[in-house]
Amino acid sequence: WNGNYRQLLWTAFLEPETGLLFAIARDTTELIVANQRLQLAIDASPAALIMVDQRGLMQFVNRETERLFGYSRDLLIGKAIEMLVPANIHAQHQRDRAAFFQNPGTRSMGAGRQLRAVRRDGIVFPVEIGLNPVQFGDEVYVLSTVIDLTLQKQAEERMTQLAKELEEANARLAELAVTDRLTNLLNRRAFDEQLDKQIQLMSRMGRAASLLMIDIDHFKEHNDQYGHPAGDEVLKIVASLLRQNARATDVVARYGGEEFTIIMPDTNEAGALQMAERFQMAFRAHPWEQVRLTVSMGVSTILPGEEADRKTVNYSAKLLAESDRALYFSKHNGRDRVTHISEMQ
Ligand code: GH3
Ligand code: MG
Ligand code: MG
Repeated sequence: WNGNYRQLLWTAFLEPETGLLFAIARDTTELIVANQRLQLAIDASPAALIMVDQRGLMQFVNRETERLFGYSRDLLIGKAIEMLVPANIHAQHQRDRAAFFQNPGTRSMGAGRQLRAVRRDGIVFPVEIGLNPVQFGDEVYVLSTVIDLTLQKQAEERMTQLAKELEEANARLAELAVTDRLTNLLNRRAFDEQLDKQIQLMSRMGRAASLLMIDIDHFKEHNDQYGHPAGDEVLKIVASLLRQNARATDVVARYGGEEFTIIMPDTNEAGALQMAERFQMAFRAHPWEQVRLTVSMGVSTILPGEEADRKTVNYSAKLLAESDRALYFSKHNGRDRVTHISEMQ
């Protein structure tokens, strides 16, 4: 009546008594327009939408499904949903699907599990899947929403990788801060920290502790004669001889230059002198390359009884000063020897 075309749906039937043919036309224009609008809205969805029936056959897919999986609609409709699932999890997927239809409800699929889908080109990618049951006539369908997590997973992996690298860098830094680069022994800073800690621990436990200070004899001459690199090698050898002969609980450090210190927890004067003897023997037995090297040592000890006045005495400073004096004494009495501070008093 206004010149527009309408979409009509016709039915006709014959009435036998009268011989009249009845024809009924239904105007379905609005229905078709509404349907097209709905299709447009669904196609505009950023998520892939797939409607699956109870047999697992795809009844409906939107444009994002075509784009994400690389199939056109006509290759998907009527096919089993498993064509979008990696082959190794087909069985699991079929079980999940059966379980869903037994107890349909809105939920995400495989909560806590890493879900994967497969593209037409065979590429497997991570997805998140939401499941919504839809009643349509007598049939229950499931509308699944598939979201591609590839970019998110890549970002997560990159973050994890960066965090790991940062942790490793921090561990390296922490190690550099406490070790001497040439000898790999603790450096002076770490030694000072350890000395305070060990003294506190030993005095709380009522145990003795000894400090051994070691200085290479005539090392300057060695450097002058054989060169600095050869001197460095000697320092490494001295460090490893000390480490090899010390006990696991002894703290061995390069105090500076050609001086080394060893904290011996739970070790009295006799014990410390015995250890010093052991080091001396190791130095004598070592097959030195250029010339036989000797060391001088100074030892001091704190005793369990001394903790009574531990608040007023700085035991770290006391041990260091005493072992240094004892070392000086060894130097002035012919070198290549050990002196305990108690021998000087
Ligand atoms: P003394 O028996 O009295 O200890 O004599 P010394 O020559 O060992 O004593 P001094 O303290 O005068 O000299 C220490 C030498 O140690 C001087 C220095 O060149 C050397 N030295 C210190 N640090 C290093 C190092 O890292 N590498 C090398 N090769 N030599 C070092
Ligand atoms: Mg020195
Ligand atoms: Mg020296």
